[in-house]
Amino acid sequence: MTNHLRVGLGHDTHRLEEGRPLILGGQRISHPRGLVGHSDADVVCHAVADALLGAAGLGDLGEHYPDTDPQWRGLDSTRLLAEVVERVERVGWRVVNCDVVIHAQEPKLGPHKPAIRANLARLLRVVEAGVNVKAKTGEHVGPIGRGEAIVCQAVVLISQQAVQDQDRIALLPPAD
Ligand code: MG
Repeated sequence: MTNHLRVGLGHDTHRLEEGRPLILGGQRISHPRGLVGHSDADVVCHAVADALLGAAGLGDLGEHYPDTDPQWRGLDSTRLLAEVVERVERVGWRVVNCDVVIHAQEPKLGPHKPAIRANLARLLRVVEAGVNVKAKTGEHVGPIGRGEAIVCQAVVLISQQAVQDQDRIALLPPAD
């Protein structure tokens, strides 16, 4: 069996604006500017959710949560991510691990990485060792470097528990 693991890639961009709350990976971060979007614009939750949907072959976030639908206005994106995890689990998959890169010129994200990691681990139902959060600046160039936007990339590995168990049985040495 070679199909018991799947990988998914997610990417999201949101624009920064004065007076908006800044929420990354479910963590409210004190900053004069925050991300603009139909929901709470949490780029981290959106990128991770898209990676999950991709891994499970379930399309993308826009199909499931269209930004034209008023019911998603101001949506708490941790709720969205939890729903996507449930959706993926319902079709037999479990998260193995997740790696995230947040691209932001400011604020400095180092102090917030542990809380974002803990939030994502809880939402993905994995131990904290199964989540990694990296932060990069934009080197003062482009929309990220000028502080106009924050971008997040995420990669997620999922496994199909039942098939894994079959593999394990198949790999047992034959009885004498
Ligand atoms: Mg988004």
